[in-house]
Amino acid sequence: MTRIVVLGGSFGGLTAAFEIKRLLGNKAEITVVSEDDRFVFNPSLPWLAMGWRKADDITLPVRPTLERKGITFIHEKASGVDAEGSKVITEAREIPYDYLVIATGPHLAFEEVPGLGPEKGHTECIFTLDQAERAHEAWEKFLESPGPVVTGSVQGVSCSGPPYEFAFEVDAELRRKKMRHKVPMVFVTSEPYIGHFGIGGLRNSKRIMEDEFAKRDIKIIANTAVEEIVPAEVRLKDGTKLPFRLSMLAPAMKGVAAVAHLGNPRGFIPVDGNYRHTKYRNIFSVGVAVAIAPPEQTPVPTGVPKTGYMTVKMAKAASLSIVSDITGSVLPEAIPMEVLCLMDMGNTAAFMKASPVLPPRQDSDLREGIVYKWMKIGFERYFLYKMRHGLSNWP
Ligand SMILES: Cc1cc2nc3c(=O)[nH]c(=O)nc-3n(C[C@H](O)[C@H](O)[C@H](O)COP(=O)(O)OP(=O)(O)OC[C@H]3O[C@@H](n4cnc5c(N)ncnc54)[C@H](O)[C@@H]3O)c2cc1C
Repeated sequence: MTRIVVLGGSFGGLTAAFEIKRLLGNKAEITVVSEDDRFVFNPSLPWLAMGWRKADDITLPVRPTLERKGITFIHEKASGVDAEGSKVITEAREIPYDYLVIATGPHLAFEEVPGLGPEKGHTECIFTLDQAERAHEAWEKFLESPGPVVTGSVQGVSCSGPPYEFAFEVDAELRRKKMRHKVPMVFVTSEPYIGHFGIGGLRNSKRIMEDEFAKRDIKIIANTAVEEIVPAEVRLKDGTKLPFRLSMLAPAMKGVAAVAHLGNPRGFIPVDGNYRHTKYRNIFSVGVAVAIAPPEQTPVPTGVPKTGYMTVKMAKAASLSIVSDITGSVLPEAIPMEVLCLMDMGNTAAFMKASPVLPPRQDSDLREGIVYKWMKIGFERYFLYKMRHGLSNWP
């Protein structure tokens, strides 16, 4: 029986495991190995930081669904992968595989900027459940004694959307509380211009985002790098000092330690059009773990985002490739990856489309409207339902 091991139990890992099971049934033995035994719907973490969601609203245990589907779940952290010997290594065991799907997401590289991050530094982050819960506590404290807010992302960021959402949400919530006049807000980013999003912008996204930030009286400092963060102050490389009472800055990302040796210098996994490792033919990788080169060299390094939508598409494509290897079925032609995204804007939202992800494009769009906020809420419910029931064949 073919042994398929999936490393990671989130958007990429769960989708791949469910999809391979759906296509192969009992012809393969599928095992998911994950450090976290919960699925966290990351797109709602900014809402959790604002107090608009609780952890239980946006998480679910993965074991019951996996086991119901006949997929083995090992709740352990991998310490390495022996690609030559085809084994995943954890502290407790070695797990042999015929095929491996790496969906381990990012290592958040706070260590690259002194003073960055909630654990060893002075800034908040909203990229994990723990961080978002901590950011919520910081937010509650901030409301008792408001002051300047510095938010955005540091050089090398690749997940640049959530900092935009956080800035818009802070603005909306402060206005709701009639406190906005007490809070100077600055948005810093390594993107060469606002609305670049690491993908060279989307049609007129620069103009739209400039207007949206201007309407909300949020000062933009783009094309910038952060030198260090000291208590209550962000220091930029050009010497600018930005005092803050609350700061949320997104870090750059790298591949996680367990798989970094299979990746590029930043630990991201190089793959072909079917998400197969360019060297190890029985290893596939999907989601944030994958290496995607930026569309252009920017003055300050900025990475390409790998969104949930992209991750699910990658997981399905990788699953098809594995199934085609095993059954000899004909593989459909690889189609270029595209982005479809709903970005929260506090009291409204935006729809974003880039097809393909990187320019030149056939189609791109960014439009704002309250209907996209409702769609985002609906999508959260829909996706959690889909993961709870292991429905990888739903769009
Ligand atoms: C705050 C935030 C907001 C977002 N908003 C949106 C949005 O609105 N729309 C959108 O499309 N996308 C959004 N995204 C992006 C989306 O969440 C990611 O694309 C998606 O989570 C990537 O899935 P993944 O499976 O590649 O990695 P992850 O979701 O990061 O999951 C990685 C998995 O690997 C496991 N793992 C890691 N290391 C190990 C190890 N050594 N051993 C075992 N297991 C390991 C982890 O426990 C986890 O289960 C957002 C992301 C964040 C952080």
